[in-house]
Amino acid sequence: MNFNLGIAAIMRYADQVAADTEIVSLFADERVHRYTYRQAFVRVRQLANVLDELNVPGDARVGTLAWNDHRHFELHYAVPASGRVCHTINPKLFAEQVSYIIRHAQDDVLFIDPQFLPLVESLQAELTSVRHFVALCAHDELPPSGLPNLLCYEDLLATAADSYTWPELDEQRACGLCYTSGTTGNPKGVLTSHRSTVLHGMAQNMADQVGLRAIDVVMPLVPMFHVNAWGMPYNAAMVGAKLVLPGPRVGDAGAMVKLIRDEAVTFSLGVPTLWANISQYLNASDQQIPSLKRAVTGGAACPLSLIQAMGQHGVALENGWGMTEMNPMGSYNRYQPWYDTMDEEDRDRQVLKSGRALFGVEMRLLDEAGEPVAHDGIASGALQVRGPWVSSGYYGQDTRDGWFDTGDVATLDSHGYMQITDRIKDLIKSGGEWICSVEIENAVMAHPGIAQAAVIGVEHPRWSERPLLVIVCRDPEHAPDHRELIAFLEGKIPKWWLPDACEYLRELPHTATGKVSKKSLREQFANYAWP
Ligand code: ADP
Repeated sequence: MNFNLGIAAIMRYADQVAADTEIVSLFADERVHRYTYRQAFVRVRQLANVLDELNVPGDARVGTLAWNDHRHFELHYAVPASGRVCHTINPKLFAEQVSYIIRHAQDDVLFIDPQFLPLVESLQAELTSVRHFVALCAHDELPPSGLPNLLCYEDLLATAADSYTWPELDEQRACGLCYTSGTTGNPKGVLTSHRSTVLHGMAQNMADQVGLRAIDVVMPLVPMFHVNAWGMPYNAAMVGAKLVLPGPRVGDAGAMVKLIRDEAVTFSLGVPTLWANISQYLNASDQQIPSLKRAVTGGAACPLSLIQAMGQHGVALENGWGMTEMNPMGSYNRYQPWYDTMDEEDRDRQVLKSGRALFGVEMRLLDEAGEPVAHDGIASGALQVRGPWVSSGYYGQDTRDGWFDTGDVATLDSHGYMQITDRIKDLIKSGGEWICSVEIENAVMAHPGIAQAAVIGVEHPRWSERPLLVIVCRDPEHAPDHRELIAFLEGKIPKWWLPDACEYLRELPHTATGKVSKKSLREQFANYAWP
């Protein structure tokens, strides 16, 4: 049959197989909201009626500035299933970027968590495309606001009908829009289709990939504004798994550990920084999270020391690689039984890999001359991908089918395991040879005194660039000096990769998606005087 894949089909399915399965949300004030998929979809239909009543055009972009909670979940369904585009906006970006993104997308309506109302108020004069502002709260939670005709989400839903006939949509129709944080220039919009979102979810749910099951309790720490929490609002519903949405307290490791314990979470996802916080908290509080068996680390390279630390807490931290332009997952490293037969060193190397491509994603590596690179797990090259959920261009720009340049450098081994060795812009070119910052960081992080590490290339009069090590120590009173660190690194990385100097910070700068910002570090150490 010629049957369109779409968000409405995911909803129909979850309503049938998981009507009574829960969706739990934690609020800022520690209140917990819980309801079932069936109850959620009643409100999703009400929300679709609200969008119609507000005369939001059938193909409009609907902007959200929201945390992971049940209302944001409802938007993820009502907006695309009614034909509109769910445009999730990262509220942690600079105000000018948020303004640029809303203007570029020409959002018709904005759904805003009350916490972000001051941000939107400060930009309101520029946001000429926006006809409606809706606060994501109940009537008695509505703060005083300077926004014209600020509407209240719960008031709107309270009077809306709860039946709705979902339109039959072409599967190639736009469904979501997410801007990458844009390490250079303005943020770029990535538009995803219904087809792309459904196929991505099906592939991610295969057993050797993320492989969610109905018995899972899934808690995305990664925000829905970061590529739909890596697909979770859709992919959990696709198997009828319980969802736990951590809300604004996601950076509070104590609150997250309590939530994992209270809801018996079995699977979670987040960037390495969040896992480092949780691991430290577990060590300090001597608590356990026995239900959590597996979790994804993604979005940035994860040091081996963190995978090992989470392993000691009983959690297999599995590497997932992807990017906004891939909706977002491209590869996954699910722990395989045969890893247990490897010797320790090989196993360490294996779990660090970025995993095998999901079915549907094709990968190739090219050298500087554009020639194919051997898949021997050693030679590295520029990673290119193609497939039905790889973006063909950016919103408002030309599109092109074919291979998409990821901007990452990687190796591929004979079993299809890919490993990201660096981002092209983070590679260090010293005396004409490339140095991989990620490998040095990984080696440094094995030192017990180091809490965080980043290696950047800094201009050097003789070698054009040399690696500078920037670290945060666990105990600044007993910080290892440069000489001790070099002695520690010798033999673990090539001799000419050894960082020429070391700088100490109290905290590393992070991007709006929680990754270490090497761009900020490069700016900070731009005129560095080598010792
Ligand atoms: P942003 O540029 O806004 O951070 P993305 O979240 O799309 O946007 O970032 C994608 C990039 O993050 C990838 O190209 C890659 O460099 C990095 N990345 C993602 N997952 C991993 C991973 N598991 N290991 C190493 N790097 C990763």
